[in-house]
Amino acid sequence: MTKAASAAAKDLAAAGVTGVQVSWADNNGIPRSRIVPIAGLADAANRGIGVTSLFAVFDTHDAITYGHTGLATPSGDVRLIPVIERLRRLAGQPALAWAPGRQVAADGTPWPYCQRTVLQAQVDQAAKQGFELKAGYELEFAIAPLGSTDIASSPGHPGPAYSPHALVELDGFIAALLHDFAANGLRIGQLHAEYGLAQIELSLAATDPVSAADDQLLARQTIHAAAHAHGLRVSFAPIVSPEAAGNGWHLHTSIWRRGRNLLAGAGEPGPEGAAYLAGLLRDLPALTAVTAPSVPSTLRLRPGYFASAYAFWGVENREAPLRYVPGSALLGADHANVELKPSDASANPYLALAAVLAAGLAGIEEGLVPPEPIADDPGTWSEGDRTTRGVARLPATPGEQDAALLASPRVAGVLGEELLGAFRAVRSSDANWAEERSVDEIVSAHLWRY
Ligand code: GLU
Ligand code: MG
Repeated sequence: MTKAASAAAKDLAAAGVTGVQVSWADNNGIPRSRIVPIAGLADAANRGIGVTSLFAVFDTHDAITYGHTGLATPSGDVRLIPVIERLRRLAGQPALAWAPGRQVAADGTPWPYCQRTVLQAQVDQAAKQGFELKAGYELEFAIAPLGSTDIASSPGHPGPAYSPHALVELDGFIAALLHDFAANGLRIGQLHAEYGLAQIELSLAATDPVSAADDQLLARQTIHAAAHAHGLRVSFAPIVSPEAAGNGWHLHTSIWRRGRNLLAGAGEPGPEGAAYLAGLLRDLPALTAVTAPSVPSTLRLRPGYFASAYAFWGVENREAPLRYVPGSALLGADHANVELKPSDASANPYLALAAVLAAGLAGIEEGLVPPEPIADDPGTWSEGDRTTRGVARLPATPGEQDAALLASPRVAGVLGEELLGAFRAVRSSDANWAEERSVDEIVSAHLWRY
């Protein structure tokens, strides 16, 4: 690895790169990073960069919780290792290259709090059973002029939603996004002015889970840099104004075996794909505690906003937390996938994918059969109708999320005892922080965190 890192460093230095940003996401979905000079890359790849072990218990507001027994003192250091296979120059910050980081203990042994390692282990386990997950994120974000303190009073585009006119004044920014995504090796399916306040959406192409999570982090950096260069700032927060549609980071996945997409079928998934979907549905409350885990996430998940609020699945149903997207003669059968809507930027993307994979695979192993899909919005039904149809509200408070997480041996099990402890300590710290605050204060404190 040192050899590959030395060779890469030499090429990058010759091209004018002076440093490498090594990035990971913490338990709040907040990217954290260290920059090493380009001359230090090979050493970093070999021996890692020292970082405090306490990042695992940082809450969303940068408070260190000390609330988890394994990480309750200021002592301890781990090593952050840049993943050289994923190293690339940042088109929008040309003096920098970027690499995702993985964390190991100071002696080089696995560190149970490394989210990327947790996902890798889950992917390896799935591969052993003959399964392969493909995943791609869809990113929604709100835009405002640089220096804005909120979106509502200074929206960065006037709408209308989906209008080409909305984006005219952002022409330079859009051009930079298209250029920089391609140059950074990220494939975009499409981009548009989305339904929310000053909102834009772009979708990333599906790939293997670890790359999908890496790509999600790189996409954030790419968008932030392009926005800044064009006098703009972006908010990835789950909710940017109490009344407006939130920012969903919908997660599209498909499960494959021996090159076959098990979700493909004639308008509905085949039996094993259906079992995968049923696995996600069974664990949806616990999944949500990982994929939409913050206080603002709970504010975003309301009926009537296409963000999902009740636990059910549907075919192309945009209110459904699990939206089955079938293949077709035009799109090809392999287009089939499931979109998870209760997913946002406050989730650690590696943990989100690890939890989804575990829940879905358990569904296949146990041969679960999903209930009939629902075409309506159960948010418009009476409470009685929802009960009759077995449609429950997704966890709506941090306390309900915590209980749901603990109630799923599969999702809690993926994190493992140590990481689960740290994750819960952080959630509880965030919940305490929010306790005495108004919705406006909560929304505003999270706007620029991600
Ligand atoms: N903005 C919606 C959300 O919070 C999603 C809208 C859509 O793309 O369906 O998830
Ligand atoms: Mg959207």
